[in-house]
Amino acid sequence: MKKAHRKSKSPIMRRTSRVFINDLNAGKTAELREFLHLCHDVTQYFIDLFWQRQDFSAELADLPTVQRGRDRFNITTRLAQALAKQAKETIRSQREKDHQRKPQLHHWTVTLYYHFVTIQPFAGRHFDVAVQLTGSGAPCMTIPVHATRHLNRKLAAGWQLSKTVRLGMHKGRLFVDFILEKPRPQKKTEGRVVGMDSNYVNGLIFSDGQHIGQELVKDIRQFPRRKKHTHTQIKSRIGQALKQMDWSSIRVLVIEDLKHVKRGKRGTFPRTHNRRLSHWLYAYIVDVLARYCEEHGVRLERKHPAYTSQYCHICNRWDRRNRSGDRFKCVHCGYTAHADHNAAYNLELLGLAGVYGLRSLQSSRLQSFE
Ligand SMILES: [Zn+2]
Repeated sequence: MKKAHRKSKSPIMRRTSRVFINDLNAGKTAELREFLHLCHDVTQYFIDLFWQRQDFSAELADLPTVQRGRDRFNITTRLAQALAKQAKETIRSQREKDHQRKPQLHHWTVTLYYHFVTIQPFAGRHFDVAVQLTGSGAPCMTIPVHATRHLNRKLAAGWQLSKTVRLGMHKGRLFVDFILEKPRPQKKTEGRVVGMDSNYVNGLIFSDGQHIGQELVKDIRQFPRRKKHTHTQIKSRIGQALKQMDWSSIRVLVIEDLKHVKRGKRGTFPRTHNRRLSHWLYAYIVDVLARYCEEHGVRLERKHPAYTSQYCHICNRWDRRNRSGDRFKCVHCGYTAHADHNAAYNLELLGLAGVYGLRSLQSSRLQSFE
């Protein structure tokens, strides 16, 4: 689902908000689980079918195909249609990959369009809702949902509930993903271009002087070994840290392109932690930043990070000897700075110059990189 929206020019922004279902009686719970299992099996059946045909097209499945699934699993045409669509989206995600593999569904989720579901808001002290499954192939029932702080915050900030929800199961627990929508703001025309460099010793350093997340590494190092919990905890810490950012004067944010960020470059973690963690963390931070940028009308630009830590933005010269640990000292003009600050300035420089990397910037000047 995420991918389908990524490159779309739709003027609508979309987010999801997950709410676990805790107040459902045993009978309904069993019925929903069974329904999710059925949806899983039908979707995988369609995936197998499309895979066999090497059908990666964007078109909806034709009627005979839908009917084949319907008859095999004894479900409604409408449900078969919805699941065939879901299978198509899953299989299309393989299209761009170098090594295509038939997708195996590991997620127990189903997207339910307005044919299957209505959301009834209750105006009370909190925003609570009843998700009503209205048949058409889904079981008929009402699912009471207590809105979470996340959902309430989004609604207070002007996000609207979509008529579509996703129903799913994670480790045996049932959940509803509400889809929130909001018109995408225009890109800002006023404000400054700001570079951002990050690593997990020093946090996120911005060329406009903002510095956040210094405490991240300390926090992360204190987390217990249980990795499954840490990822969720780390995500929430990152979220809290990034909330402190002031976007008001930023028009363009320039960051390192993850494609070229070498593994291990941003500092390694103690053995108790996953070695790939630092890479994963950067990817997650970029995800969150991208969402903020979208909501604030800020353009996000990704640049090649090569030489950004050794280049002097004051005298515009590069020297390998400029960087020593956390310290940047230009051997040509004597400019000193924290190495991460200097890298952030250099990313800003790339943003202002409108080039992808320092190499292209230098080609218009005299010095070349070795
Ligand atoms: Zn210099």
